[in-house]
Amino acid sequence: MLTVKRPSGARATSGARATSGARASAGARALEARNQAVRHRGIKSMRVGVPFVAVHLACLAVIAVGWSPVAVGTCVALYVAREFGITVFYHRNLSHRAFRLPRVAQAAGAVLGASAAQRGPLWWVAHHRRHHRFTDLPGDPHSPVVDGMWRAHLLWLFDAANQPTAREEVPDLARFPELRILDRFHHVVPAATALACFGLGTLLARAGVDTSGLQLLVWGFCISTVALYHSTFAVNSIAHHFGKRRFATGDESRNNWLVSALTLGEGWHNNHHRCPAVARQGFGRLELDPGWWVIRGMSRLGIASAVRLPDERVLAEGGIPPGQRARLLRR
Ligand SMILES: [Zn+2]
Ligand SMILES: [Zn+2]
Repeated sequence: MLTVKRPSGARATSGARATSGARASAGARALEARNQAVRHRGIKSMRVGVPFVAVHLACLAVIAVGWSPVAVGTCVALYVAREFGITVFYHRNLSHRAFRLPRVAQAAGAVLGASAAQRGPLWWVAHHRRHHRFTDLPGDPHSPVVDGMWRAHLLWLFDAANQPTAREEVPDLARFPELRILDRFHHVVPAATALACFGLGTLLARAGVDTSGLQLLVWGFCISTVALYHSTFAVNSIAHHFGKRRFATGDESRNNWLVSALTLGEGWHNNHHRCPAVARQGFGRLELDPGWWVIRGMSRLGIASAVRLPDERVLAEGGIPPGQRARLLRR
């Protein structure tokens, strides 16, 4: 049985009372501070959760607004453009510095990435770098091996611990004020994208085109954003569970052609985990990598520089025939 030794004597008793009173109030303050932190984090989780659920629910409005070729075309165009924003700029340029861009182009790429409504560049990159540091181990924010598929796919987004931007992961990016501002006000670009869809639809309808402001808002922003969410999330969930492994990376990353097709090259995820710092992710002859095509195009135009390519030794390790290696080593 646990016994508590109490101090004896009046002096000791009054001193003990003072001490225990001070401790109690300090404990109460600490408890209140913790409760406040939990409430604050809960509110922060809701700030992520409410828009996330709302944009999913808004897709149901398609029943009311119908469809038109212009609406579906806008949806596809905004999906592709913003997917490039994620794979080329948020991921390969900012997260891994696999190539360099002039500062204006870097900021423009970050704005395109931010339009996908996957939070700001510093937050996105910090969590992604943590994923590479602890891949499929405790500490990985989204591992299907550690936490199961649903948490790896999307539930991790709502975890209070994942709400802050871990600045210590992104000191190289945090020195750019434009990236800090974009991160702090990350809702602005997606909101402007949604408004632009509504405005464009309204203008086209007035010009006699078969669409409307609401129809373009639903197709151009809501449906395309939800599709972007789940294709990006599939890299974290599906491409760490289903697919082929070319390299023994010590994690569960896989090359998955379907995820690659949806994410413009991000699904060659086992290749990527073997050499994260290189700009191209498709290594095999049939491993199409549109994200790389954009980087190569920017390199040939003199916009992108310091483009990092896979090491020939790594390609040999992956069983790439010598004839194909030369192709992969060309910028
Ligand atoms: Zn991964
Ligand atoms: Zn990566």
